[in-house]
Amino acid sequence: MSDVHELSFLKEQIQGLKDDGVYRELPILEGANESEILLNGKKVINLSSNNYLGFANHPELKEAAIKAVEKYGVGSGAVRTIVGNMDLHEELEKVLAEFKREEAVMVYQSGFNCNAGTIQAITSKGDLIISDELNHASIIDGVRLSRADRAVYKHCDMEDLERILKEKREQYNQVLIITDGVFSMDGDIAPLPQIVELAEKYNAMTYVDDAHGSGVLGESGRGTVDHFGLHGRVDFTIGTLSKAIGVIGGYVAGSKTMKEWLSHRGRPILFSTSLPPAAVASITEAVKLLMSTTEFTDRLWENGRYFKEKMKNAGFDIGKSETPITPVMVGSEDKTMEFSRKLLDKGVFVSGIVFPTVPKGTGRLRCMVTAGHSKEQLDKAVDTFVKIGKEMEVI
Ligand SMILES: *Cc1c(COP(=O)(O)O)cnc(C)c1O
Repeated sequence: MSDVHELSFLKEQIQGLKDDGVYRELPILEGANESEILLNGKKVINLSSNNYLGFANHPELKEAAIKAVEKYGVGSGAVRTIVGNMDLHEELEKVLAEFKREEAVMVYQSGFNCNAGTIQAITSKGDLIISDELNHASIIDGVRLSRADRAVYKHCDMEDLERILKEKREQYNQVLIITDGVFSMDGDIAPLPQIVELAEKYNAMTYVDDAHGSGVLGESGRGTVDHFGLHGRVDFTIGTLSKAIGVIGGYVAGSKTMKEWLSHRGRPILFSTSLPPAAVASITEAVKLLMSTTEFTDRLWENGRYFKEKMKNAGFDIGKSETPITPVMVGSEDKTMEFSRKLLDKGVFVSGIVFPTVPKGTGRLRCMVTAGHSKEQLDKAVDTFVKIGKEMEVI
């Protein structure tokens, strides 16, 4: 009898994960994602969420969601090209385009499928995609789905990017340069002005995934393009609605032509049901809130600076972060995971990031400071870090 249903080939690989010490259970969050959470039954300070502005449990966003449920129900009922395109979706895209200071926006069901759907729609055989080596997994998958050729340049290395452009530009029809705006594992910002200059010099298009820049950088969180004053010079700007915006979804901002094309060829638009009314209404509320005040982003940056300063003064290596993402470098995979476990024991949740997510030997504790943290919470987190850091001889 065949043991195919046993999935033995997977069981073996799972055992391999266990042998390598990288097997893990999913932590369980009871209640809302806040600066302090109940995780696996234990009250802890949360330094691991992407809820940068504290919007995930914001009363005004919740009220907008409830109202939308009452009027529109819980599901949109279809893909947008059939009958799932509600006036709510249209309004959201209008508000987002205004926020991003771009002509048009196309909203997707997630940041992930925005990359997966957009990259393959705008490139084809005979084109070349040039991608930063540290770009997000969803970009890598998006590029895999494309029929274009691909090349990778060294992280933020403009000489390497130019070398590829010089060598290859002539052989291709369209060339698309893709970069994260803010890199999620280090918190560094892409050298966008130089990338745009090179793109213009070699007649290439630019594509910036601003999942960690939107709601964080630029005026009231308008993103990396706004931060550098590059409006009109980046062809595709991706944002997520699930990080700073606190809900779910993704979008691409750019020209009306881009939107027209994606509404015909963006596969997640054509073949996957549109975002539900509650999500859309609460996102619109979040973006309006951001446009009305810089209070949220100001607090995020103040908290980020406060935490980073204290950690640096305590002697920790916080890498080259230029944003509220604060990686605390530890080194080996084992030591990083042990540090993370000890923090959790003492009431601070920071996930350890190790190989293969980052290069071997560069394990780190990635602290995500948000607008929702109080100074007391940040102080307590730093004190706990210092105590364990000394014990483990990290500082
Ligand atoms: C998180 C992230 C995404 C995926 O966004 P989701 O909305 O969570 O699917 C895409 N790109 C980058 C750079 C990200 O950090």
